[in-house]
Amino acid sequence: MMSKSDIIIVGAGPGGYETALLAAEKGKSVTLIESGDLGGTCLNKGCIPTKSLCRSAEIIEELKDAASFGVMSSGVRLDFDQAMARKQAVVTQLRNGVESLLSHRLIRLVRGRASFKSASCVTAASEDYYADDIIIATGSKAFVPDIPGMRLPGVITSDELLSMESLPESICIIGAGVVGLEFASLLCSFGTKVTVLEFCKEVLPRFDEDIARRLRKSLCSRGISIVTQAEVTEVSSGDGALQVRYAQKGRVQSVSVEKVLVAVGRKADLDTMNFRDAGIASGPRGILTDSNMQTNIPHVYAIGDVTGGYMLAHEAVAQGRKALAHICGYESGIRLDIMPSAVFTFPEAASVGVTEQQCKDMGIRYHCRKSFFRANGKAVCMGQTDGMCKIIAEGEGGADGRIIGCHILGPHASDLIQEVSCLMNQEGTEGSLASIVHPHPTLSEIFAG
Ligand code: NAD
Repeated sequence: MMSKSDIIIVGAGPGGYETALLAAEKGKSVTLIESGDLGGTCLNKGCIPTKSLCRSAEIIEELKDAASFGVMSSGVRLDFDQAMARKQAVVTQLRNGVESLLSHRLIRLVRGRASFKSASCVTAASEDYYADDIIIATGSKAFVPDIPGMRLPGVITSDELLSMESLPESICIIGAGVVGLEFASLLCSFGTKVTVLEFCKEVLPRFDEDIARRLRKSLCSRGISIVTQAEVTEVSSGDGALQVRYAQKGRVQSVSVEKVLVAVGRKADLDTMNFRDAGIASGPRGILTDSNMQTNIPHVYAIGDVTGGYMLAHEAVAQGRKALAHICGYESGIRLDIMPSAVFTFPEAASVGVTEQQCKDMGIRYHCRKSFFRANGKAVCMGQTDGMCKIIAEGEGGADGRIIGCHILGPHASDLIQEVSCLMNQEGTEGSLASIVHPHPTLSEIFAG
């Protein structure tokens, strides 16, 4: 059988399904092909289930301090099964929502594994599909490094962690990136003894150093053991536990734990779809595209994790909009260079634009303004004063200095960052930020002083 639509999209993660919906809204017929669950990694094994569990953890942290607010609670304990059941209910609710949105008359959903038959034909579920344009949105998978012991039972990735049936007493997390720290934070709140081993000098190597250092200290003060400059050499099993051996500054050490979480990054899923046979060029990180997300084959586009970028759901969605705009011939106005990101630890961290270090490396003259949550009335009322906000602007500190970065550690950092993202999209300056009235008392006043 053979069928034709305007656009084929392979992969129904946020990048794929949001692009399909927008394309249909614009009158394009879409064939959307997905072999797994609708919603991809984000909805099923990433952002959404993790954030549901983060909320359980946040409630525990708030209850720990309830007495100081005059709220007496006793016998607070985690019901792990209930936390996991709620997480699953949240995932199911949102997945059903996606399914119902996709029942659009212009979208044909095909369940099956797609692969290129040629650069203009994709086959799935024993059928050949043709389209004027093809968008690849096949995502990424957890990267497991080539270290002895990585295949032992109990050595898991975030995929398995999110479907664990019981809470481990202890865990060693390899990698203090976003995944590693989010799980460290929530498992610590749940009562697991957590050790984090990070290869680099500081946690969150892509974040601003001030924020990363403060977050590390904050997590350590909650009882998480974080070892930086640690090179894991082997995981072995014995006596009912896993031993993780690592070298730190020439000294070999080890930690004995029930589970090991491997969180050293994700890699573009390039093993599916035989891209290369279809002549689609890829680099070491993923499929290569230009700024319109077009591959070397003009009618084939690639978006999201498969291109090996920051691997953020909202980045995939934005790239999909960009690709669709190019296909339809309009200007999207989307700025992919302004990409906010957040880490859902307790406290949260968030970032947009360049860090101080990047300014130094690129020789950018910059000025930095810091403000602290301990001086923010709302944060004091909330009892969440740990953290700061750093605004980076071009030049020596005048009102006309264009804002080029913002880094926040503190309550609701993930929501706050968007104000600066908006400003940066409008080429906002320190002066334009200063001219905005912020309601009192709110966390947003962190930008006012
Ligand atoms: P990451 O790249 O953010 O962090 C991996 C960390 O592991 C780095 O700090 C790295 O130095 C360290 N590392 C690498 N090899 C190591 C080794 N052998 N021993 C010790 N440490 C080692 O990767 P991640 O945290 O797995 O996240 C994967 C992707 O998913 C990222 O691109 C991230 O942006 C995205 N993600 C985003 C969110 C969010 O936006 N909240 C949440 C989860 C994941």
